[in-house]
Parts: sequence; structure tokens; C-alpha cells
Amino acid sequence: MFSSSNVSSDFLILAVFTYFLVAISVGKLGTAKACGGAKSLIFSLFFTPVTGIIYTMTSPLKNILKIIHYRCKECGLEYTDHHKYCPSCEKEGKKIRLYRIIMHSY
Ligand SMILES: [Zn+2]
Repeated sequence: MFSSSNVSSDFLILAVFTYFLVAISVGKLGTAKACGGAKSLIFSLFFTPVTGIIYTMTSPLKNILKIIHYRCKECGLEYTDHHKYCPSCEKEGKKIRLYRIIMHSY
């Protein structure tokens, strides 16, 4: 014998579970967007995942360029590719290690 209240509470738990699952999925989707995953998740939780999806979809794609440069502290020259020692200083017989600079550009 099934009581009707039991069935509806089971359905409610399932619905809430699905709601959170969808909201988290929208949040993950948002990590690739300019709005960010946290904002997408908050929108999905408070204004339903449908609103969250619309909000995430209308947000432009995250456009971050990661630029890595290698700079020599001896001569100040910058290289875009990795060298063990500064090629310019190496010609003068000095072995100067390059240090890495990471820049983020939008
Ligand atoms: Zn150098």
C-alpha cells in the first residue's frame, strides 16, 4: 500500500535534487563565460536554472589570453619562447637564467 503523501515527498526530494544538479551544471557552463561560474550558479539557484541558462548564454565568452614571456634580469630582454639561458648574454659568455612572466590579457 502506497500512501499519497509518501509519493509526493519522494517526488519533492527528486525535484530538489534535480534542481540543484541542473543549477550546478549551469554554474559549470558559466566558468567558460565572462560572468563566471559563481554568478551563473547563484542565478540558477535563486532565479531558477532556466534564468541561469539564459543569463549564462547571453554573457560573452571569457576571452583571457595567457601570455608567457621570459625576461633576462641582466640585459632586460624579453623572449616569447623558453631558453635555458639568455641567448644575448650567452654570446658574451654569461649564463643568465631567464625568469618567467605570466600576463593575462582580456
Ligand atoms: Zn640577457
